[in-house]
Amino acid sequence: MKSLEQILSECEETAFDLNFKLAKKWKSEEATRVIVGYLPTYIPREIIHAANGISVGIMGTGDRKQIIKGDAYYQSYICHLPRGIIEMALDTNLDGFDGFLFPAICDCVRNLSGMFKLSKKGQFQRYFDYPQNFESSIGGKFYIQELEKVLDDIFKINGVRVTAKALNHSIGLYNVNRQLIEKIYDIRQTSPWKLSAVEMYHILRAGQCMPVEEHNEILEQVFTHLQNERGEPMDNIRVVVSGSFCEQPPIGLIKSIELAGCYIVDDDFMLGSRFIQGDIKNNSEDPLHALSEAYIHQSTFSSSYYDVGNPKGKRLVKLARERQSDGIIFCAASFCDPALLDRPELQKEADAAGIPHINFQFHENTGQFKIIKEQAGTFSDSIKLWA
Ligand code: SF4
Repeated sequence: MKSLEQILSECEETAFDLNFKLAKKWKSEEATRVIVGYLPTYIPREIIHAANGISVGIMGTGDRKQIIKGDAYYQSYICHLPRGIIEMALDTNLDGFDGFLFPAICDCVRNLSGMFKLSKKGQFQRYFDYPQNFESSIGGKFYIQELEKVLDDIFKINGVRVTAKALNHSIGLYNVNRQLIEKIYDIRQTSPWKLSAVEMYHILRAGQCMPVEEHNEILEQVFTHLQNERGEPMDNIRVVVSGSFCEQPPIGLIKSIELAGCYIVDDDFMLGSRFIQGDIKNNSEDPLHALSEAYIHQSTFSSSYYDVGNPKGKRLVKLARERQSDGIIFCAASFCDPALLDRPELQKEADAAGIPHINFQFHENTGQFKIIKEQAGTFSDSIKLWA
């Protein structure tokens, strides 16, 4: 077994490899393998795995790439994520990718899917729509049709027809993946000093660009290491971070929140990996139906998910309580309409529940964190002194 430090260092490297070397190497080892890139937040990665593919999360460039062409494609008053992604597409970063999925979340992502189509990136570029109706016979049926379109896209490339057995196997692997991630989050709830939020972030982000089998091994090993003591408890408050489900905050920002005296006991940074809560049925004769039922009934709350009858504000409060959180940090990308439109409603629920909160906005390439650290530090001190 590798040491925890070695695992963490490898995960950090993979998480920010904007050339996706691991995935490209995996593809090069077999003729029918395909790479399907996807944007935040969620796609059912199981279907790609079952079709002999690897799903690769394209989570943005952060501060690791200079954006020139991306700025020419977009107006100034939108978030940063799509600029970085178009820059990667126009450079060579995404060469070797066979197709791209753009989960429906906002107009920026919708436009990006059109740009990929016009630039002929990959062999398919699909804007992946989600049901807004949560009845199995209506929204569920629609969702299955969307899944079938993706399977068809991949079939046209590699000729692999997905069987129920293969899909059940893939669902089983992702069930293990989700279970292990939640087990590690639970350890971080009871002993957050054992693994920092930045370290957890690297582990999850790396998992979006490697085969799930390898990621499961990494998670197993991390879980085993965390049975031992590591680090020292600090006099920190406990916070839930909400609003960073799409464009990712810079690592410096997450670090600043932690250094300012806050344990991040839950977050929505790599939400796609945790979107479905609990296991998906993996012994079904109709696994596409099982995936669809899971989306309809087991999705987490998010601005990317229509929350009819199950308000996200109440779910955020419930999460904060379950994690015994002292406060909530609303931390969204600048100009992120979905996150910023939801925020007043979420804040209202936090107020009603008596949970203190603060908010920041960021760009993925923000470089100055002094003000954020001061704000988070003041938040932490005020809770310690007066809450
Ligand atoms: S960060 Fe927000 S506005 Fe930007 S692409 Fe993502 S969801 Fe859309």
